[in-house]
Amino acid sequence: MNAEIISVGSELLLGQIVNTNAAFLSQELAILGVNVYYQTTVGDNHLRLTSALEQAQSRSDLVILTGGLGPTKDDLTKESVGALVGKPLVHHAQSLHNIEAFFKKRDRPMSENNRKQALVIEGSHVLPNHYGMAPGMVVSSNGVKFVLLPGPPKEMKPMFQNELLPYLVEELGGREAITSRVLRFFDIGESQLETDVLDLIEAQTNPTIAPLASEGEVTLRLTVKHADKNEQKRLLDETEELIKGRVGQYLYGYDDTSLMEQLFLQLKEKGCTIATAESLTGGKFSGGLTSFSGSSSVYRGGIVSYATDVKENVLGVSNETIREYGVVSLQCAMEMAIAAKKQYSADIAISFTGVAGPNKQENKDPGLVYIGIAGLAAESIYYELKLPGGREAVRDRAVKYGCFYLLNE
Ligand code: ATP
Ligand code: MG
Repeated sequence: MNAEIISVGSELLLGQIVNTNAAFLSQELAILGVNVYYQTTVGDNHLRLTSALEQAQSRSDLVILTGGLGPTKDDLTKESVGALVGKPLVHHAQSLHNIEAFFKKRDRPMSENNRKQALVIEGSHVLPNHYGMAPGMVVSSNGVKFVLLPGPPKEMKPMFQNELLPYLVEELGGREAITSRVLRFFDIGESQLETDVLDLIEAQTNPTIAPLASEGEVTLRLTVKHADKNEQKRLLDETEELIKGRVGQYLYGYDDTSLMEQLFLQLKEKGCTIATAESLTGGKFSGGLTSFSGSSSVYRGGIVSYATDVKENVLGVSNETIREYGVVSLQCAMEMAIAAKKQYSADIAISFTGVAGPNKQENKDPGLVYIGIAGLAAESIYYELKLPGGREAVRDRAVKYGCFYLLNE
């Protein structure tokens, strides 16, 4: 099966938004073993979109379009595809119902043009949208399948995963189910990870192994094709073991689980409580941990001890430590952690102190970070990091390292 992607939207051509949809779809299709031969970007213009559609129809079996399903006049994807395949737009009762419910829930009046979003191409297979209003659809014409998905990534991605993927897998002839497992890594670069498992990536066909990097995390996706669920699991486990043999120390979790969520789950499972003393991270760690419902069972509390005198007078870091080593020091990090553990009566405590940048502090370079952990044992431990990047990157990475170290405690 040969596929192509048409991204619709004048903002894309003007460079106002980056075309992440096409990248996402290409990666997903590659994993399925579908060849993507073309990506086209076209503005919100009926004639030019029609010409792109005609060309796509002449050379591809599967044409996936994103964008232009909205309620406004410049949204013309459905109209253009409908005209090409010679089918009218018809009202779709379930979609209209969903749109009405969407407005009702938010207590906002529904305008007439929102009804337009409930129109679908006659005879199409409708893909429901649980994350927004415009439904997607699949239209078949002369052996070519046109898939229409909304533009906003937060609608398009789950619709692809939950609605389109099962449909495509079925269409690809396989009753042979495809399933995947994502292995998540931290503290190893993308290229190092790939180098370490390159021979496995090249030799493996079932499951296939695909490296993916996004938002500072490195992942390997294992995709297996087998009719039998137990056999799928066995094949995935076997490949995971091979990978762990190479880079197991960097593996922290699976699928969509972030480092912070993994830490939350682990603390909960162990029945272990935690306290925090944060300086350069300004509460980012505690903010992240308390984003999970049920976090009160593990998080005791903490302090953002940002100013030096707060570290000393409120938290209780000794004056000698501050005078002798400075606040950006392993000694200060350890005292912060020990004090937080005691003050908040927690099983463990973590502290962050460092130079977020862009300026030096205590004549120490930006990116120098100390993380202290006062654990279950009598001894506390510390980590020294030299993190690259700007202020926000340093702060975010410090939090991630904190999670990673705690996971390995
Ligand atoms: P809406 O109902 O929001 O109008 P739509 O299906 O009509 O959705 P567009 O109007 O084309 O989609 O785009 C809406 C928004 O979705 C854009 O402003 C942009 O933020 C995002 N978007 C659209 N296309 C892409 C793309 N190819 N890559 C990343 N983001 C996109
Ligand atoms: Mg729109």
